[in-house]
This record gives sequence, structure tokens and C-alpha cells, in this order.
Amino acid sequence: MADAVRDAGELCRLLELPAALAAEAERATGGFPLLVPRPYLSRMQPGNAEDPLLLQVLPGPGERLRGEAFCDDPVGEADSTQEGGVLWKYRSRLLMVTTGLCAVHCRFCFRRHFPYGDAEATPARWQPALDRLAAEPSVHEVILSGGDPLSLSEAGLLPLLESLDAIPHLRRLRIHTRLPVMIPQRVTEELLDLLRQRRLTTVVVLHLNHPAEIDAAVAAAITRLVEAGLPVLQQGVLLRRVNDSVEVLAQLYERLVDLRVLPYYLHQLDRVSGAAEFEVPEAVGLRLIEELRRRLPGYAVPRYVRETAGAPSKTLLA
Ligand SMILES: *Cc1c(COP(=O)(O)O)cnc(C)c1O
Ligand code: SF4
Repeated sequence: MADAVRDAGELCRLLELPAALAAEAERATGGFPLLVPRPYLSRMQPGNAEDPLLLQVLPGPGERLRGEAFCDDPVGEADSTQEGGVLWKYRSRLLMVTTGLCAVHCRFCFRRHFPYGDAEATPARWQPALDRLAAEPSVHEVILSGGDPLSLSEAGLLPLLESLDAIPHLRRLRIHTRLPVMIPQRVTEELLDLLRQRRLTTVVVLHLNHPAEIDAAVAAAITRLVEAGLPVLQQGVLLRRVNDSVEVLAQLYERLVDLRVLPYYLHQLDRVSGAAEFEVPEAVGLRLIEELRRRLPGYAVPRYVRETAGAPSKTLLA
């Protein structure tokens, strides 16, 4: 992570792209700086300003579009965030913002304006969340999110996971992460041991949006997770110019299923300010899903969902 590219000029030089793109990116970043890990960069095609991986990370003029329906907190998290980074919106499962750190800054991220400074990853900081969990016997599952929980070291994760294991009514631990995709070397034997040794049934949900995100190293990292006995699911976001085509999505889902990963959710973009250029109309998403159902086995087609502030679950679109 320390080695990641943080400078638009360097990114454009490495990818043989015009300097004008870098200048535009610098004007567009706002408070959410460019961040691209090198293993991810290595999968981008030099000279291609429309590369679907590049589009996810390079700030563009579109970020300054101010769509009317777009705001800083599109899914109403500020109102539901409690002490210790707890987000409890759905019955029986509670989400913990474990850390503000990610291995990448995705330009469409719905938490791009989240007050991560308040979400420092320290045991003391988590204590209110652990107390809350211990006091809520109706919660059976804890979801570690962020930021990216796997941006914590094994030594940082261990005390948290041990405390969660010790809460008797908890049954499952879910880890939402993009790190194995960004830096596949993150899936170390030590991490696998840590996950294998849990009392809680541990489920991993990988965030992936495009088949070109899966090179041999990512495929190997995914296989290590699967062979450690962990259920591995995938979620992604429907993104204009990145994956709003039936060919791209079909390729992604087939590749995942071949790797023994089941597609879980395809998210309609949350209307976060800065991300308007990524929006695909719902009607287009519905047609894509319909066509995917014709082409792929049922288990290879994810649920197409939208997050609605105040709703008791994700809203199923198809
Ligand atoms: C998406 C989400 C969950 C998990 O929902 P599932 O439908 O169980 O995957 C839980 N809490 C919050 C705050 C969420 O945004
Ligand atoms: S990895 Fe996830 S949380 Fe981090 S910037 Fe990307 S979308 Fe946002």
C-alpha cells in the first residue's frame, strides 16, 4: 500500500497517457485523492484512456458535475452511524466501519465523503461497537467494512476477531473487501490461518466490477480463499463505460463462477456527489439482468439492488 501511485502525473506517465489527463485529474480530485496500487495498475492497458480499470480510479472532469439528486451521504449513513463505527440498519446483521483505509480510491465510492478521520482502527475505538454487539442478542452476523478491513495487519485484526468470537450470540463474520483484487499478495498464509481459526462462520464478499480485474495473481488469491474453506461471494457496482454491457458482465460472472465465487449483488450506483458520470439508468440495468438470465445459469446472475435510505433491507430491482 505504501508503494501505491498517488500522483496523477506519474499514473499517466506509467500508462503512456497524455499529460492533459493528469492535469484534469488534479483539478477534479477534490477531497478524495487519487490512489492506485501497482498490482492493479499492471492490469491496465497502456495508452488506453478508456481502460475500464483506469476509469474506476482516475478522477475526470465528470467529478465536478453536480447532479441534482447527488449528495455527500446518499444512503443516509450519517444518521445511522453510531459510536465505534457501528452502522445498524438491518435486523440481525450489524456493520462495523473497521478502518477508513482502502488500498484504492474508487471514484464512485459511496463512502467517499465519509468522515473516516473518525474511524481510526484501534481496539479502544472498537470497544463501543463490541459493547453494542454484546448487548444485542438479535444480531447474529457482524459485517466488517470500511474502508477495507483487510488493510489492517494480521496483528491489528486478531484482537478484533477474538473479541467477536467471544460474543456468544454472534454466529457469522462477514468481511467485505476489495484488497485481494487490488493487491492479491494480501492473501497470505497468515491471513488464511487467522480466518480459518475463527469460531464464527466466516464469509468473504469480494468487490469486483470487471473481468480484467482478475489476472493470474488475483485468481490464485481467490483460490487460496476458497481452498481455505471460506464461502466467497462477489459484489459489484453497475458503472457506465466500465461494465454496462452484457458481454462484460457475462464474462465477469462466468469467470467468477469458474473460480467458485458466487455473484451476490450488482448495486445500482449510490448517488454520491462526484460520481454522476458513472450512473447507468435502472431501465438499462434491468435489461442487462434479463439478458444475463438468458445466457447464464441462474446461480451466476447476481441480485440487482439499490440501497434506499431508511429501508429495512436492500431494495431488489431484479
Ligand atoms: C448492505 C448492508 C448490510 C448487508 O446487507 P445484506 O443484504 O445482508 O448483504 C448490512 N448493513 C448495512 C449498513 C449495509 O449497507
Ligand atoms: S475499495 Fe470500496 S470502500 Fe474503498 S474506495 Fe473502493 S468502493 Fe470505496
